[in-house]
Amino acid sequence: MVVKPMIRNNICMNAHPEGLKLHVTQQIDYVRKQRPFNGPKHVLIVGGSAGYGLASRIALAFGAGAGTLSVAYEKPASEKRTATVGWYASETFAEEARKAGLVAENIYGDAFSDEVKEQTIQKIKEIFETVDLVVYSLASGVRTDPKTGVQYRSVLKPIGATYHAKSVNPLTGELQEVDIAPATQEEINPTVKVMGGEDWELWIDALSQAGVLAPGVITLAYSYIGPELTKAVYRDGTIGKAKEHLEATAKLLSKKLAPLGGKAYISVNKAVVTRASAVIPVVPLYLAILFKVMKEKGLHEGCIEQMYRLFAEKLYAGDEVPVDEEGRIRMDDWEMRPDVQAEVDRRWKLVTGENLRQLADLEQYTRDFLNLHGFGFPEIDYEEDVAV
Ligand code: NAD
Repeated sequence: MVVKPMIRNNICMNAHPEGLKLHVTQQIDYVRKQRPFNGPKHVLIVGGSAGYGLASRIALAFGAGAGTLSVAYEKPASEKRTATVGWYASETFAEEARKAGLVAENIYGDAFSDEVKEQTIQKIKEIFETVDLVVYSLASGVRTDPKTGVQYRSVLKPIGATYHAKSVNPLTGELQEVDIAPATQEEINPTVKVMGGEDWELWIDALSQAGVLAPGVITLAYSYIGPELTKAVYRDGTIGKAKEHLEATAKLLSKKLAPLGGKAYISVNKAVVTRASAVIPVVPLYLAILFKVMKEKGLHEGCIEQMYRLFAEKLYAGDEVPVDEEGRIRMDDWEMRPDVQAEVDRRWKLVTGENLRQLADLEQYTRDFLNLHGFGFPEIDYEEDVAV
């Protein structure tokens, strides 16, 4: 079938198989050009099919020769629909990894469920015996609590007061003013249930009880802080409450893993375009300005650059892992540099529909967004029929 992007409300509903092959192989090529590092040998990635989880998987496999098992919520193609983005990405990854002599397995299903945790444990026993790194990189809008069957939905809202800010429609370039009404307590709690650390803890408990965590195991989850500009809707908003919970869970998990000589880390990553971040109001405009500023300063990074740097230069560099006063690894170090933020701030105040393209790199934003779904690659003829 001929596959062209179907985009509604900043969500792309389909995926291009050939484009996703390229999206994955370009990231593999990036890692192959970097210095190899001594990393973990057997890795479980929960949420390993897209964004930061996929980039983690690629960096660990092709940078450190790790065998990887990914769990992700993805679906193959049907007669009418393409497969999901992460299905193509996971299949491509597995094919490339196996060609390179690496173990690579994919489990598709709901990571929040007990069944998928059990299936994963069986798979680990079969292919690895134990894992020495567990990356937890889920981003989801809903979660069904496996114990009660209650379904929770997360929201992206400020807390306490309405948030008023500029926002851009990345596809049309139209600048708008948006008002986001504050969340109620009934919206805050479910957001923490979905995006907080409860499920991460359930994973580690289940893996630990099954005896599939290697001595010295590390587990890692990803957080975000961000600048003043997005603070009301991000760090001080509902998602920020969830991230506080996730960060507190890291401390709890470090205690639980201590008898094994293990440790839990939070890595605060930089803002990038992923399916998860594209739906956060204000973020596309912030990202477009940030990209331009960071490129001008020679600091631009996407998911793969961030994840290679995280593993090769921070977590597995052989020295003590560098952390902030809260014990977090700060991969947002360049994004949060005072000179970067001062320039973003300055442009944010000035930006209008007319000067948007001078002050911000909307093209990079749009290209990243399309590439995530396998679109926008000049190498691909999108008029051609492809097997989905
Ligand atoms: P993403 O949307 O690109 O990927 C999410 C992953 O979660 C996919 O692999 C998807 O299949 C999986 N997933 C979702 N629901 C699932 C379920 N029920 N069962 C199994 N798998 C499921 O997201 P991302 O932006 O890479 O986010 C990953 C983490 O990184 C999140 O914790 C996010 O907050 C954090 N982070 C993101 C950014 C950013 O700018 N994107 C910045 C800092 C931190």
